[in-house]
Amino acid sequence: MKKQFELIATCAAGLEAVVGKEIRNLGISCQVENGRVRFSGDLRTIIETNLWLRAADRIKIIVGEFSAKTFEELFQGVYALDWENYLPLGARFPISKAKSVKSKLHNEPSIQAISKKAVVKKLQKHFHRPEHVPLMETGAEFKIEVSLLKDKATIMIDTTGSSLFKRGYRVDKGGAPIKENMAAAIIMLSNWYPDKPFIDPTCGSGTFCIEAAMIGMNIAPGFNRNFAFESWDWVDKTLIQSVRDEADLKANYDIELDISGFDIDHRMIEIAKQNVIEAGFADVIKLKQMRLQDLHTNKLNGVIISNPPYGERLMDDELVTKLYNDMGKTFYPLKTWSKFILTSDENFEKKYGSQADKKRKLYNGTLKVDLYQFFGERVKRTVE
Ligand code: SAH
Repeated sequence: MKKQFELIATCAAGLEAVVGKEIRNLGISCQVENGRVRFSGDLRTIIETNLWLRAADRIKIIVGEFSAKTFEELFQGVYALDWENYLPLGARFPISKAKSVKSKLHNEPSIQAISKKAVVKKLQKHFHRPEHVPLMETGAEFKIEVSLLKDKATIMIDTTGSSLFKRGYRVDKGGAPIKENMAAAIIMLSNWYPDKPFIDPTCGSGTFCIEAAMIGMNIAPGFNRNFAFESWDWVDKTLIQSVRDEADLKANYDIELDISGFDIDHRMIEIAKQNVIEAGFADVIKLKQMRLQDLHTNKLNGVIISNPPYGERLMDDELVTKLYNDMGKTFYPLKTWSKFILTSDENFEKKYGSQADKKRKLYNGTLKVDLYQFFGERVKRTVE
């Protein structure tokens, strides 16, 4: 089986640089592309990136890339790849995704069917099976994806399974949760460090607070879940266990964190509490039903991250205007705090009453949103 892999981490548009930085922080060099980051490595790399990347969606192995303008070229290209180095006899290997952008071949079901035929034929040849006897697909699953961009085919195997945003702690999500990997990315983009107070005044199901606690304690985001590669027989189980054990040693469960979440809706606070308990942070994250208009604090240098209701999603425009205006007034006295507000409302700054120091375009699912960033004034430390 394979020892070295060409890999990509996929992510939401706008988060490529964040994922790239995370990968480099694991000591792996990489290239940032559109919606994905490319790198290479061994089995340990696959395990570590799945376990540790907070902002990515999935880690995929690139089995091969070639030009394909006709179905014959697609068939031959897929057939030529070294499938025997990935798929053991008995493996299930659905062509789970076919995507075509700006390419001559665009009928996605046909792309799937042709690719499947090519892999089957290659494995039948490799395992000396007659062509008229179908391969039994009863074993571990290897999801194959075919992507065509400008007539270039990229053939991949997904190593992740359910997307990395599924950390395993969410019991309930409420009406409009932010994805866990987007929340983590925003925290990593903020200037929050574990020694600073952190508040999400519209915490909903508690995603930002939980992700901040995981970052603060250096807990691997994938610690409580499994990955597709774990069911593959050629992936060394002791290696998986040792990467998990190392992750456990790297976590700092004793660090003091100051993380609070508030929400006007007591039902959301109940949901957030369940999620916080499930994530193991019942003693770490403070949750309270409170209107953001009632937020006061004497603490300094904190970070506020908020994903308030947007017009289209949860409230009518008049209420949103009032809420954003109240937000501006409530946060105004907190001069040393940095504030990061994620909304799709293009008139946010007007309603909030001040212009952001920086704006960053992101996608919350398919919805275009902006992260409005207001940086806190630095507090001069008085020398005693
Ligand atoms: N990021 C959250 C979702 C936030 S949705 C998550 O991951 O689940 C916006 C939240 O703002 C809702 O839960 C809503 O109850 C809350 N909210 C609306 N008006 C508010 C107010 N005036 N003060 C505090 N919270 C408010």
